[in-house]
Amino acid sequence: MTEELNPFKIVQKQIKEACDKLGYDDSVYELLKEPERVMTVHIPVKMDDGTIKTFTGFRSQHNTAVGPAKGGVRFHPDVNLDEVKALSTWMTFKCSVVGIPYGGAKGGIKVNPKELSEGELERLSRAYFRAIAPIIGPEKDIPAPDVYTNPQVMSWFMDEFSKLKGYNTPGVVTGKPIELGGSKGRDKATAQGCAYTIREAAKRIGLDLKGATVAVQGYGNAGSFSAILLNELGCKIVAVNDSKGGAYSEGGIDPYAILKHKQETGSVKGFEGTEEILGKDLLELDVDILVPAALENVITSQNAANIRAKIIGEAANGPTTPEADKVLYEKGILVIPDILANAGGVTVSYFEWVQNLMNYYWTEKEVLQRLEKIMVDAFNKVYNMHEEYKVDMRTAAYMTSIKTVTDAMKLRGWL
Ligand code: NAD
Repeated sequence: MTEELNPFKIVQKQIKEACDKLGYDDSVYELLKEPERVMTVHIPVKMDDGTIKTFTGFRSQHNTAVGPAKGGVRFHPDVNLDEVKALSTWMTFKCSVVGIPYGGAKGGIKVNPKELSEGELERLSRAYFRAIAPIIGPEKDIPAPDVYTNPQVMSWFMDEFSKLKGYNTPGVVTGKPIELGGSKGRDKATAQGCAYTIREAAKRIGLDLKGATVAVQGYGNAGSFSAILLNELGCKIVAVNDSKGGAYSEGGIDPYAILKHKQETGSVKGFEGTEEILGKDLLELDVDILVPAALENVITSQNAANIRAKIIGEAANGPTTPEADKVLYEKGILVIPDILANAGGVTVSYFEWVQNLMNYYWTEKEVLQRLEKIMVDAFNKVYNMHEEYKVDMRTAAYMTSIKTVTDAMKLRGWL
């Protein structure tokens, strides 16, 4: 992996840049450049054929100055320590940019879950959670779903932890099904938060959302709900894609109908009334708003100069490299960075944990009202920092969150 694409090197660069802009001395960077704690576990699992297979898993807790650690668990063959460490670091800043009292964490198992039976997946999930249990808990570290983990996996995690404790502990994980203490509104929270920040960004640059054109890369949970919500705000969705192909229509695409087509056929490709579009071309379309909602490192030094959107709302984690950021800033494109744009997910996870601790549950309307206030306040804080210091929005987001974490570390005597 090149230096430009190593996520841990990228996040360290982002921290350094923000610390320098804030005029902090090296001690702050020294405290933030590595996670506080990283656990590696080797998990033996009895497979259906009677053999034992050992899987490697990780849990990284980046910084707990403002509260317990929080972050998802990923099951993927490419999971590696640098990726988990980087994702845990981003979580610290994501939580603090929206002002929720958590530090960052992330976990993962190097596995292709599609190759496991349901029973093998359950045994692996439970064994992983038992292995990391000493450093997990509602007051210590609260995992959640990430790539290829879902509410069922969270239910197994919660059940395993509750058995270890001897009592029901719903607050140990978020992203649970509603029946086990999940929060209303969690399914579309990330996209909802992203849509709120895009709406605020449009106000700031004087873009009328009525008829504004949108391209969405990745039509999964974050991407499809973002398209639907932006369409409700008056935007015209002109292009969407997924891992199998893309669809483009100058006249606009019905985001619900194309979602139904994807559910029926497995892809957005071939949706009636649309033309095929390559992934590379979708990113470079002449649209008002671009929403990368799939993978890391899709906007790089190679294609940044060709991006024509006025606003980029990063629903995905890490879609833009630091080199590309510089080019986009010079071009005057307003990038709503991932740690802000997709923080709606962790915010509603926080609401889920709060409801679990209170044992009292909110309506979807209450959840969304609270989410909107948090996202709008966070956007304004970052935007004002961006204007005051004349820095790009990502640096401004890091500056606001690093300042919050640093203030907490100073008060605790860590600095
Ligand atoms: P998902 O699995 O539901 O959707 C991902 C989509 O991306 C799928 O439709 C897939 O086909 C598509 N995709 C994969 N490779 C692609 C490619 N090369 N080109 C175009 N599309 C491609 O995942 P998700 O939960 O929507 O997450 C998407 C991104 O958003 C990730 O970066 C994730 O970390 C981030 N995110 C999600 C949440 C959330 O709550 N869902 C929260 C924060 C951040």
